[in-house]
Amino acid sequence: MEQEDGENPEMSIKSISQIIKILKKEVKEFENPVITNIEEVSRTPFMVLISCLLSLRTKDTTTGPVARQLFREAQTPKEFLKMPMAKLQKIIRPVNYYKTKSVRIKEICKFIVKKNNGAVPDTFEGLMALKGVGKKTAAITMVFGHKKPDFIPVDVHVHVISNRMGWVKTKNAEQSMDELMKVMPKKYWHDLNELLVLHGQNVCFTNSPLCSKCAISSYCPKVGVVKSR
Ligand code: SF4
Repeated sequence: MEQEDGENPEMSIKSISQIIKILKKEVKEFENPVITNIEEVSRTPFMVLISCLLSLRTKDTTTGPVARQLFREAQTPKEFLKMPMAKLQKIIRPVNYYKTKSVRIKEICKFIVKKNNGAVPDTFEGLMALKGVGKKTAAITMVFGHKKPDFIPVDVHVHVISNRMGWVKTKNAEQSMDELMKVMPKKYWHDLNELLVLHGQNVCFTNSPLCSKCAISSYCPKVGVVKSR
């Protein structure tokens, strides 16, 4: 396989179909990231929204079990509203900022039940209008909850890898989402999130990427460049 000119985003993106193919093969050995796991288990936009809120600034390995326990107790906004705050906080205590998250969850449930006919907003703007919901949560809810693949959810892994690969030059995940949606052919949007999250969780770690074990290293301009802390 020839080395692509990874410093040139256009050249790098020309290889995207090959990169996706390689990553699809690579990730078969990995576990699914928490959001797609929960999507598979729950299949409602509300549960995807809640699991994503829980996952903010929290390790996936912590979020998964907490979300599962929570959904055993309640699955709809109405059921969440009936749950006493103390009980909600006790269940979600392992996730970071659990107190703030519990307040946001209750506020969101109240809005959905009282002002939105019990339905999770099904537009990006509608979701962004909810307190505590940012671009990443809105995009994940649209794509995995409402099954509207018009967005690329970008978490820290997608952001870091997209910059290392030279597809974008951005400072944060929100900018990366905007830029990726400009430069990536739409047919790859759905795959991109899951594949890059898994690649980031298992190989291209934020601090110390395992370049020697990376299946797409021949396409990466940063191979061997990012050192361990
Ligand atoms: S070569 Fe290294 S930096 Fe580049 S994608 Fe692979 S693990 Fe990440």
